[in-house]
Amino acid sequence: MRRFGPIGVIGIWVCILLAQGPQGTAQPKKVRVVATLTNYGFVAQLIGGPYVEVVSIADGTEDPHFVKPKPSYAVLVQNADLFISTGLDLELWEPALLAKAGNARIMPGSPGYVSASVGIRLLEVPATASRAEGDIHVYGNPHIYTSPWLMKRVAANIAAGLIRVDPAHRDIYEHNLQHFKDEVDRRLFGDTLVRMFGGDLLDRLVESGQLISFLQSKTYQGQPLIDRLGGWLKAGLAFRDRKVVCYHKDWIYFATLFGQQIVDYIEPKPGIPPSPQHVAQVIERMQKENVRVLIAAVYFDPEKVRTVAERAGAVPVVIPMGVTAQFPTYWDVVDFWVRSIADAFQRAGNSGIQQFGSSAVRQFGNGGVRPESPEALTIMPVS
Ligand SMILES: [Zn+2]
Repeated sequence: MRRFGPIGVIGIWVCILLAQGPQGTAQPKKVRVVATLTNYGFVAQLIGGPYVEVVSIADGTEDPHFVKPKPSYAVLVQNADLFISTGLDLELWEPALLAKAGNARIMPGSPGYVSASVGIRLLEVPATASRAEGDIHVYGNPHIYTSPWLMKRVAANIAAGLIRVDPAHRDIYEHNLQHFKDEVDRRLFGDTLVRMFGGDLLDRLVESGQLISFLQSKTYQGQPLIDRLGGWLKAGLAFRDRKVVCYHKDWIYFATLFGQQIVDYIEPKPGIPPSPQHVAQVIERMQKENVRVLIAAVYFDPEKVRTVAERAGAVPVVIPMGVTAQFPTYWDVVDFWVRSIADAFQRAGNSGIQQFGSSAVRQFGNGGVRPESPEALTIMPVS
């Protein structure tokens, strides 16, 4: 996946077109993919491999709601075979961009349009969908990419889109999709648990919100099953059930997966800048409820984030929300999220609540213990 300035991007596509040439001697045509976000572009590149040329518009340091439109974006979209978007109201700039590009092949409802959120059960769906008070999450929370588990669904939607516009490479896209899902499982649960239970059963446990309680309540070979957990969820035990405050309403999918409690938001409503009164209320609540960590995306006012955290006696965690030059893969991004939050809780002190201890942090990234031989395992039913 590449993220270029407009000239670089157009240059590449021109080169591809020239390479095909009228004589037809050269490379087969690649699927030209434009993703609204680098997180989606990263997935598209992994699934499309050598058959795609991917360009992403906004990276993890930019607020995806409010990307400043540039004429070059319309040129990109005009020439795209596939356009990948969240498909909700995250990218508020998308309708104007698509209208300007005027490419019928990638308009919503066309084969070349991928809605990354299809099939995802949205959280924080408002009772009434209205922008009257400035709310910009009218269909439910659109920040689906904060859950690596949901990215498996996103990947399936992207693979389906690639197959629609390039059915000749269906087998490869399906193979790469399975590879992507396996990689998420290994990074999320650790190798051992994946080998013991398989991704489907683990999916069902995550879906029902029972994974951790299930692992805590069962033993295997005389040891608590939770000891077999690895990967991000193992590292995330260091902050499970802990309270946080977030700047924007963009963290619910991560918080749900990792069992964090979001107590409040600095923004009173998504996209509405906070008043001093609202900030004061949130700080008071943080102090009252002993909330020691404040999570904010890098694109919010760093001065405000720092001030709120200081006044509340909390540790600020300032993070990119997706793939950037500094974190060139989605795996790097999630690694950084998990590590930063675990570190913040450690720095915030509160001894006695880190029941899983710093060993969880130390084991981060290596997937925990060594895999068992599959023959030796008994698969336990989900109760
Ligand atoms: Zn938002």
